[in-house]
Amino acid sequence: MARRVVAHCDIDAFYASVELRKHPELRGRPLVVAGSGPRAVVTTASYEARRFGVDSAMPAARARALCPQAVFLPPDFEAYSATSREVWGIVRDRIARVQQVGIDEAYCDVTEVERPLALLRSVVAEVRESTGMVVSVGVGPSRLVAKTSSAAFKPNAFAVLSREQACEHFAGSPARILQGVGPKTAERLAGAGFRTVGDLQRADEAALAGLLGERGARWLWRAAHFHDDSEVATRRGPAKSRSNETTFNEDIADHAELERVLVKMARELCEGLAGRDRAGRTVRIKVRLDDWTTVTRARTLPERTNDADVVCAVAVDLLRAYAPPRPVRLLGVGMAAFEDPEPRPAPARAEVGDGQLALPVEP
Ligand SMILES: [Mg+2]
Repeated sequence: MARRVVAHCDIDAFYASVELRKHPELRGRPLVVAGSGPRAVVTTASYEARRFGVDSAMPAARARALCPQAVFLPPDFEAYSATSREVWGIVRDRIARVQQVGIDEAYCDVTEVERPLALLRSVVAEVRESTGMVVSVGVGPSRLVAKTSSAAFKPNAFAVLSREQACEHFAGSPARILQGVGPKTAERLAGAGFRTVGDLQRADEAALAGLLGERGARWLWRAAHFHDDSEVATRRGPAKSRSNETTFNEDIADHAELERVLVKMARELCEGLAGRDRAGRTVRIKVRLDDWTTVTRARTLPERTNDADVVCAVAVDLLRAYAPPRPVRLLGVGMAAFEDPEPRPAPARAEVGDGQLALPVEP
């Protein structure tokens, strides 16, 4: 495979940075973005708050105990998605091959660029200048090296590592820094004496296969040596569907609240469609309950539309008809059938772009 240059770009302390842009007077003070209520968790903590041990996903009550002087703010998801669109819009204007993988991170393939590092530095500067957001960048021959580097060196990172340098640099790091090694796998590996990336590099593949199966072992051994061929997936051809979904920090049982969220997401979706001059015939909602039951409901309209009032009304109607019987952890709304039906539509791949997730079209 030809040598590639892949960058992973990750906005530092994203939600907290957006809040600081809104409230510059809070700069320098510990800042915690968290919902309210007994089960609220920390969505983001500024680096000042992290110094007190506050971290994402920690119960808000514990964060208050650790850092009572912190300013606590409720999340403002509208502002976060607006800033996200601004940042990745700038990046896309300058770099052709971008795969957004979250509200605050994206991979860029800059293999074809003549001076990739200069371009990346100038894009980071432009993002900072126009949005105030600081982007950490990891650059390497693969997504794995790029992602591991941006994560290890942030904040305000610009780290460039070859595969060999990554092998050496991360040999002493815990195995879980490898994307794909979750806490359970890490625990199982540690139980067998494989604690660090270096332990895995020196491991016998057969010993790993005993723990993870042959395919898992092969993958892990390659990952520990930072071999990764996965592509930066840029969208090819028109998307077959678009959707917007939100996982709540706290499950929501109140149907009126769910409708409010649904309407907001449907409006954003329609704005996005109208901006691209696209319209769909099928409106779909997706609801995941607190027990992970996942339900989708769809309705096909007589003609294509991107009219927010129409789409909101249908989405709310679908939600009311389903009437979630348990608290909801995830809610989504989508539009499909942008084109006249094809004889046998191929299943669309899930890919991320513009902060919206394209889901497989359901018949
Ligand atoms: Mg980030």
